[in-house]
Amino acid sequence: MAPLRPSSLMDGISEAASIKQNNLVYELQADGADIITLSLGEAFFDIPAPAFEELTPAVHHYSHTRGVPLLRQKLAKYHEMTAGTPADPDREIMVTAGSKSGTFMTLAAILEPGDEVIIPEPLWVSYPDQVRLCRGVPVTLPWHATVDDIAARITPRTRAIIVNNPHNPTGRRLSDGELRTLHALVDAHGLLLIADEVYSEFVPDDEPFRSAAALDPDKRHTVICNSMSKNFGISGWRVGYVIAHESLIRQLAKLQQHLVTCAPTILCQYLAEHFEDILARTRPQIREVVRRRNRVAEAFAARGVTSMPGDSTFYLFPSLGSSRLDSTEFAAELLRRYRVSTVAGVSYGASCDRFLRVSVGAEPEERILRGVTAICDLIDETGTGGHG
Ligand code: PMP
Repeated sequence: MAPLRPSSLMDGISEAASIKQNNLVYELQADGADIITLSLGEAFFDIPAPAFEELTPAVHHYSHTRGVPLLRQKLAKYHEMTAGTPADPDREIMVTAGSKSGTFMTLAAILEPGDEVIIPEPLWVSYPDQVRLCRGVPVTLPWHATVDDIAARITPRTRAIIVNNPHNPTGRRLSDGELRTLHALVDAHGLLLIADEVYSEFVPDDEPFRSAAALDPDKRHTVICNSMSKNFGISGWRVGYVIAHESLIRQLAKLQQHLVTCAPTILCQYLAEHFEDILARTRPQIREVVRRRNRVAEAFAARGVTSMPGDSTFYLFPSLGSSRLDSTEFAAELLRRYRVSTVAGVSYGASCDRFLRVSVGAEPEERILRGVTAICDLIDETGTGGHG
């Protein structure tokens, strides 16, 4: 058998830490283990299983590269209502196989080898490797940097800044001022602002979500990557979308044609026909999960464990305080000793090794609080003066 010789590019690529952790959980569960799963990057909702009988017959087949037209129309309307600025369903929207492929194709469409992309930490695990896969160079900023610090990292090779808003793993939302600063920077330096807004619905009651799209209505320098995975609670359907200037959408369409042809037609058609119903079902459940998130933050605080500031999404990023374990050791020990699965903070950037990512989307509150107790106990046991 000829030995597999991966390209040198693959040497620099790691597994996505959160997905790797969840694969481990699936395997442990298959062996009968009861794992409190605070590592899943999604919220589970009560939504009806899809029934495909009523869909028009052609749904077994490929669809338009840019997506089923009715879904693009629904997305355009949704975007206008939530972001406050229009998008042309025939020129400025492409439905993708999850938002992940949207960010990847955007990077692939703009980067020359050696081009730099600025990514503030905590960063979503796939951004740096997606940049590397496009032969670019991720330029990260430590978690305590502010948007004002980004300017100092811009070089002649910089092509884009990626932000995730609201933010996985902290739950933070960018303020209007921060969004204005980012737009001013990309405008002044001829860069692209890639705004990953997959958690756009996950904001607290009475807190409107501010899309980066609102400050660039002509889409001169902004790409919005969004998804049905989280907001509609259907991560396994693999349906996302990109909203951008038509000149970029044309490039992304070429990539999509060569990669996946189109997003899954039958699911997109179902989604288009049930768009408002699904949203009406998920929205109250989203409100509840955000409230739960903030109750869990209080439970950590009551034990003296502080989390990075944030009030949105279903994630928290608590500090490991005085534990002498690094985040990888801590997450492994937590799983081994307490059967609680989380993701090591270091997966979100080298500066984040004193944190742990906790997701509250997939377990009942009582089990989450047991997980919180286990985390706080392990911090105490492994802390200075601890006995673990
Ligand atoms: N962006 C962020 C910040 C995420 O957390 C995730 C999923 N965990 C994604 C993108 C990918 O989402 P999708 O299922 O739309 O590819």
